Amino acid sequence: MTPGTEENPLRVAIVGSGPAGFYAAEQLLRADGVVAEVDVYDRLPTPFGLVRAGVAPDHPKLKSVIRVYEKTAAREGFRFFGGIEVGTHVTPAELAQRYHAVIYTYGTATDRQLGIPGEDLPGSHAATEFVAWYNGHPDFADARFDLSCERAVVIGNGNVAADVTRMLALPHEELAATDAADHAIEALRQSSIREIVVLGRRGPAQAAFTNPEVRELGEMTIADVIVDPAEVELDDASREFLASGAADPTNRRNVEILTEFARRKPQGKERRIVLRFRRSPVEIQGDGRVERIVVARNELYRDDEGNVRARDTGERETIECGLVLRSIGYRGVGIDGLPFDERRGVIPNEAGRVLDPGSGEPVPGVYAAGWIKRGPSGVIGTNKKDAQETVDSLLADLAAGRLPADADDPESVERFLSERQPSLVSYAGWEAIDAAERSRGEPQGRPRVKFVRVDEMVEVARSGAPA
Ligand code: FAD
Repeated sequence: MTPGTEENPLRVAIVGSGPAGFYAAEQLLRADGVVAEVDVYDRLPTPFGLVRAGVAPDHPKLKSVIRVYEKTAAREGFRFFGGIEVGTHVTPAELAQRYHAVIYTYGTATDRQLGIPGEDLPGSHAATEFVAWYNGHPDFADARFDLSCERAVVIGNGNVAADVTRMLALPHEELAATDAADHAIEALRQSSIREIVVLGRRGPAQAAFTNPEVRELGEMTIADVIVDPAEVELDDASREFLASGAADPTNRRNVEILTEFARRKPQGKERRIVLRFRRSPVEIQGDGRVERIVVARNELYRDDEGNVRARDTGERETIECGLVLRSIGYRGVGIDGLPFDERRGVIPNEAGRVLDPGSGEPVPGVYAAGWIKRGPSGVIGTNKKDAQETVDSLLADLAAGRLPADADDPESVERFLSERQPSLVSYAGWEAIDAAERSRGEPQGRPRVKFVRVDEMVEVARSGAPA
């Protein structure tokens, strides 16, 4: 009998409880004419992916999207299994056996490497690690960042680079009012960093910042923004790019904002954010730790397809610094037993249907959505449309009889998971963690004080969740 009825609901596992996972769950649970049951898995006891562990603490409004996900979690047919890492506690094959379909939405966890000498010196970190640390991700609870130097260099011109720059430039009082991890608030309070230099490989017209993020860098309470007028002056390639259809309003507005920054006189604030353009790191140097970074000056040109590219002029500059944060893009990692495109760092797929690398054909009942499907781009809302495409493919396959016919009943799946992971956290368990975090935050006027250790979270989930 085709699944999707009251007697035989469509049973779907979703691996990863970030935006893509929650949007896919909502779309399945609301699908017309189909009765679905959805189990959302996460390796952490806490849901919401990068909305909890990525979005900057000083942008609390963006986290209000969680209320939408809470409504999904309240729907009949929704279950959360926190603490299950697919690839560790269960394999993709074991999931495939137990569900009619599995959607992988596990995001892209690691930063791209620069591939330059000195990249691994102590004091040089992926921005991902710094972000995860200040947001209280349990994997980074014991990470250490040496903030005793006066200058940090941030490599990259995207919104994550803007986030980490702001975090280094926020006054203590502003940071202390957020849900940033306590260990980060304390470490940043003692920070000696006075200057944050942000390096962009190309020019202001090609920076990947969105307009509000770049504007915000010029509105910091205790930091001046410094831009050298010569570096925002447009070269021929950028002028042609801006005049062409390839540029969008964001590019043009960024140039205006950055040009206005270049006209400003520094107000002598205690910290400085220095935005540099057409600069690429070529080596990180130091005796046992980061002491300086060697930077190449680039010139820009348009290639045969009209894309603006950077070319090393051979000119070098050395910037003394004690901390380097690399933010040149995130990259997914594969899970054993699941197709993976190592070159692009994503799961190969067509409209969300995971493709067998050997045959190029869809693997029946296996799908992907979100960053692990399309790579790390777009805002939170982009994942909604992206998940919809995947769910549409899944429902079309259901209608065409292309899904595996059998699935286990919900109770036996839960028994199987509890054997594999005795510290399984249910949605009620997460609600207990959530309530405890909020009440810890209340006396301090903060949205929450996060638990940063898995065993603490599991304990709170156990004591607070109704049996
Ligand atoms: P994720 O949100 O990464 O969720 C993936 C989930 O899968 C995680 O919960 C993870 O724990 C889980 N997981 C991973 N591996 C496994 C496994 N093996 N088994 C089980 N579970 C697993 N967008 C905005 O609109 N505004 C912002 O301000 C903003 N700020 C950002 C700041 C940073 C630092 C970053 C990196 C991104 C930011 N984004 C922002 C983008 C936004 O966070 C992403 O678009 C979105 O989170 C991607 O959703 P996702 O569901 O694909 O992945």
